[in-house]
Amino acid sequence: MLEITDVAVGYGSEMVIDGLTWTVGAQGGVLTALLGPSGCGKSTLLRAIAGLEPLARGDIRFDGDDLADVAVHRRDFGVVFQDGQLFGGRTVTSNVAYGLRMRRWPRAQIGERVAQMLELVDLPGFADRRVGELSGGQAQRVALARALAPQPRLLLLDEPLAALDRGLRDQLAVDIAEIVREAATPTIVVTHDHTEAALMADSISVMRAGAIVQTAPPGELWRRPADEWTAGFLGCRTIVDARVSGGVASCSLGSVRLNLPDGDRRIGLRADSVVAVPEVDGTASTATVLRAIDLPTGRQVRVGTDVGEIDAMASDDVMTGDRVALRLVGERVAVIGE
Ligand code: ADP
Ligand code: MG
Repeated sequence: MLEITDVAVGYGSEMVIDGLTWTVGAQGGVLTALLGPSGCGKSTLLRAIAGLEPLARGDIRFDGDDLADVAVHRRDFGVVFQDGQLFGGRTVTSNVAYGLRMRRWPRAQIGERVAQMLELVDLPGFADRRVGELSGGQAQRVALARALAPQPRLLLLDEPLAALDRGLRDQLAVDIAEIVREAATPTIVVTHDHTEAALMADSISVMRAGAIVQTAPPGELWRRPADEWTAGFLGCRTIVDARVSGGVASCSLGSVRLNLPDGDRRIGLRADSVVAVPEVDGTASTATVLRAIDLPTGRQVRVGTDVGEIDAMASDDVMTGDRVALRLVGERVAVIGE
């Protein structure tokens, strides 16, 4: 268990993190994502956990032990940064062996461990290649192998996919998650991308302006964001009032079955929370299609409604200018607050 209590970290007198408390499960291959917008303090927090930034206040404990007086290399934490920070002129083997040489492992054991690690990250034939000749994705696998080789008690990954192409990112996200689970190393991965967080993590902690605002498994996070800011950050472009009565939530855009007690709520809508269907005679229609966009996942439309412009999914025959009826999708609606 990693326990961070009332921590402050800053640069000069400027506190980036001020009063952050966060508990992270650190058993087996549990993967936790630290998700937040650029500049909110994710890297600062990760570096503080690693021991690379001093704490102005508070404490960080691992399995009950205060880390205040534990030097960086004695924490037994592995760290991978955005760009891997490998030695480009050296071979893959030399890079992966680096931490083991530092820890004075015997030569034979180093050879064995490096081979094992290259197998784990699926680069078995790459031992003698120079790192500078590898693709971005291969280099990040080497960085992961190097961090995992000394069997760290915790692995810290700071936006490990940020420097890669979109297409490669999703696959490597899944691969990295598989690798750290196979290595049974508890891992914290920092990202600003909620899809990436969901692809990798069992649990997601959302960070805003130096504080943790919510921790939940991905599905629960999308359905129950803690507050309106979190809902917006997670993609809800429209937030409206709803009244729940008898398991049905009614708002200005329509009604939808939601298994909630009676009362007033705020609900958040993403494009996939709403379906725009062609108007048929007799439906009360309040929306006009302003624009249609063809995404890989299907047609998305921007519609004008009484509560402003909202995004919805539609079938391919829905065109700009069409009058449409809107249907809310209960499973895709975010209910804000506890
Ligand atoms: P994130 O990783 O979430 O994008 P960072 O932790 O890198 O955020 O940065 C948080 C804030 O701290 C930003 O405003 C950034 O400009 C500032 N900051 C980061 N590193 C330094 C530094 N070495 N010196 C001064 N300010 C810094
Ligand atoms: Mg960062």
